[in-house]
Amino acid sequence: MDQFLSTEFLLVIVNDIRWAVQIEFTRYLIAAAGATIVYALLSRWIEHRRIQRNRATLADRWREFRRSFETILVFSLVNLLSFAMFHAGWLPVARGTPVLSIMIVQVIVMVIMHDAWFYWMHRALHLKALFRRAHATHHVSRTPTSWAAYSFAPIEAVFESIYVPIMFLIVANIVPMQPWAIFIFLGHQIARNVIGHSGYELAWSGFTRSPWTGWLTTTTHHDLHHTEGRYNFGLYFTFWDRVMGTENPKYHERFEAVVGRRAAVPEAVAAV
Ligand SMILES: [Zn+2]
Ligand SMILES: [Zn+2]
Repeated sequence: MDQFLSTEFLLVIVNDIRWAVQIEFTRYLIAAAGATIVYALLSRWIEHRRIQRNRATLADRWREFRRSFETILVFSLVNLLSFAMFHAGWLPVARGTPVLSIMIVQVIVMVIMHDAWFYWMHRALHLKALFRRAHATHHVSRTPTSWAAYSFAPIEAVFESIYVPIMFLIVANIVPMQPWAIFIFLGHQIARNVIGHSGYELAWSGFTRSPWTGWLTTTTHHDLHHTEGRYNFGLYFTFWDRVMGTENPKYHERFEAVVGRRAAVPEAVAAV
């Protein structure tokens, strides 16, 4: 019986890991490849919005992909915590028709919580004691691409993901988790991540100073973090960087310099 139970238990774990790898890898591949294809298709119209003069090489992208794949394996192991909590009944999940209001509130709360966690974890990773071992891998990408979304050392991958099951546990025990809230949270997370590393600034002039949009981070915000690591630790919002005085003093200026560039006029049109 013990033999049967342990075999069954192992099969559940193997199945959970396989499922987690599939989910994480599909999510990453759709987002990173999707962004690469969309930006390539739009390149004629957005080339002047490329933030850096430097271009990432194919070798850079391949390195970012390999590192991201390793991260996905770590994420999948950490995801076992969520599955274990779910199997144990600690993570109440709502059944039946989705309740839109609860779902929206849960997504907003999780995004705000994740942003706070990321800011403080990221600042910690920049401490001398941790940087080399945990975070230097991510900063090898001086000219990041969307493939760098998960380009972390294994230790950083643990720091990045360990909070998610804890957050699910907190949120689901206040009101049972709406499954779609998890789906939207994870979709938003990877979408913002690949856009933040894309290297192209598609927001408009005035975006960073406007009270309507200035609280959102832009691609320039994170791109500056990759070139000048001392500032801009935030993920989704500018809140923590502004409160803690870690926003790059040249952020607005650099952003406006990129979005203020004019598109190259095709020669045939220029000649008219
Ligand atoms: Zn980054
Ligand atoms: Zn960093």
